[in-house]
Amino acid sequence: MDTIQKSAKLNGVCYDIRGPVLEHAYRLEEEGHRIMKLNIGNPASFGFAAPDEIIQDVIYNLPNAEGYVASRGLFAARKAIMQECQKLRVPNVDIDDIYLGNGVSELIVMSMQALLNNGDEMLIPAPDYPLWTAAVNLAGGKAVHYMCDEQSDWYPDIEDIKAKITDKTRGIVVINPNNPTGAVYSQALLEQIVALAEEKGLIIFADEIYSKILYDDTDFVPLGRLVTDTLCISFNGLSKSYRLAGFRSGWMIVSGAKHKAKNYLEGIEMLASMRLCANVPAMFAVQTALGGYQSINELILPGGRLHDQRDAALTALNDIPGISCVKPKGALYLFPKIDLDLHKIKDDQQMVLDFLIQEKVLLVQGTAFNWPERDHLRIVFLPREDELTRAIERFGHFIQRYRQ
Ligand code: PLP
Repeated sequence: MDTIQKSAKLNGVCYDIRGPVLEHAYRLEEEGHRIMKLNIGNPASFGFAAPDEIIQDVIYNLPNAEGYVASRGLFAARKAIMQECQKLRVPNVDIDDIYLGNGVSELIVMSMQALLNNGDEMLIPAPDYPLWTAAVNLAGGKAVHYMCDEQSDWYPDIEDIKAKITDKTRGIVVINPNNPTGAVYSQALLEQIVALAEEKGLIIFADEIYSKILYDDTDFVPLGRLVTDTLCISFNGLSKSYRLAGFRSGWMIVSGAKHKAKNYLEGIEMLASMRLCANVPAMFAVQTALGGYQSINELILPGGRLHDQRDAALTALNDIPGISCVKPKGALYLFPKIDLDLHKIKDDQQMVLDFLIQEKVLLVQGTAFNWPERDHLRIVFLPREDELTRAIERFGHFIQRYRQ
């Protein structure tokens, strides 16, 4: 009898990027099938090597990484992040405003645990990167989703944000460049969000992990540069731009009106101390990564793998009748729309599962990103162009025949 129950804290916590469909994919692999995994933004598994100088530096420093370090992280790494803030013109960041974590993921969970009381609300985009919603729910808060508008390059709908602010709203999450839509927000839009947050006293949580993965000369504006009157917490790390997802190395930067948040910041410090410190060998990668040659630029310019794969995947998708996709300006994903008048889909998770079983390609359904309709899916454009377009063509053939 199944008598050992999970904690009630986990009711409503869900992270479907690694959900039941992935479990099914693992079973198919155990049976000997080769699965093309277009579900997770893990550059290393598609032959994107991390910069060699970073790997060498970590190997060189491994003998010095045996002990715990300060809970916030290694001084040299935080100093390098501080300099990066100066380069990006993000003011008011001292060395103690920087926390290193086991990936951005750990810090997202920590920042929500330290803030939220039961019933406190957090504004989160729809679609979102679902860890944010999960982290809010785990902390006892309520994720309130504001809509992003596909017709307007997936920009957040400011009126919808305004309409959803209540006296319980504590903060707003902005994911820029965005996962899953690939949107990159203009300074004008970010200024509108900041003005609203400052007026209503909301904390801004800026997930900027894709800040260096930009296409078509698109500018990235860090939110920390624009915030003065409210608290801003920005997140970034090595997983994507430096292809080091397995190192589990990320950081969180506190800026803006820090004087209003002494108590909250004490809470964050407490949680950082309770886990002693993050993985130390990976911290040795940070200084070399930020200060070294930025090889990501070769991948995102025309002729570079990421740029060209994005274009090829976008064309292949838009060639499928009943599928349309907004061109991503950043990050690693496409979030195409399925015309439900043409393709009858009642359950998008079932559709993704059926596609996996028939064609051995793994995608993620749109509802996994807290998108309210069953009419989207997310594709990672990391595989090489020929494999990627073949997988999308297979989806095209599949969807033409598919009925639920
Ligand atoms: N934030 C966003 C928007 C992401 O897409 C991801 C990973 O896909 C993360 C955070 C987590 O990154 P990390 O590997 O640093 O935990």
